[in-house]
Amino acid sequence: MAAFPNLSDLLVNHQDDVERILFTEDEIRAGLERLAARVAACYGQEPFTVVSVLKGSCVFVADLIRRIPGPLELAFAATSSYAAGTEPGRLELLLCPDEREIEGRRLLLVDDILDTGRTLAALRGELLARGAAEVRSCVFLDKPSRRSLLFEPDFRCFEVGDVFVVGYGLDFRGRYRNLPFVAALKAHAFAQQA
Ligand code: 5GP
Ligand code: MG
Repeated sequence: MAAFPNLSDLLVNHQDDVERILFTEDEIRAGLERLAARVAACYGQEPFTVVSVLKGSCVFVADLIRRIPGPLELAFAATSSYAAGTEPGRLELLLCPDEREIEGRRLLLVDDILDTGRTLAALRGELLARGAAEVRSCVFLDKPSRRSLLFEPDFRCFEVGDVFVVGYGLDFRGRYRNLPFVAALKAHAFAQQA
């Protein structure tokens, strides 16, 4: 027996946990083309910086920036929703772009999914406070039914209902980011890893 499982074994294991596919690879590709055209038209030849929110947006941002021909730069940010010892829901800034990447720059925050809106609203406020000239936002998925504060993305690829999704960068307990499509999980997958 091989020391390591091969890729097709891993995909088979993952796919056993999939309840249904919400967006296929082909649908994602078509959605990305439409989205990238809108973003490219918005900025034209103006320089701007894409700020990718880790880890969930890694797959999306890599596919998105390769479809935008303008002069963009790439930076990274990360937040954690539950800082140890603080009340649930408090956002902690784990990683922020360098001040030279923020001051006077036009920024485009890119995240995997907009849920309550707290992450992007907090990051937007922080980047403006640190001197960004402008902060727009672009999300792969938008779950408007879950919004807890007033926040609308400037760009979104797809809207989804109130269902927990994985794949294309989105995880459940660190797994499933490598699925090439977006899916809802079976109940047993949540229970197994509890
Ligand atoms: P917000 O601050 O908008 O409530 O949360 C955004 C973050 O919550 C996302 O970046 C993502 O990490 C997580 N999240 C919200 N809904 C989902 C979901 O359906 N699936 C996954 N995997 N993460 C989600
Ligand atoms: Mg996230």
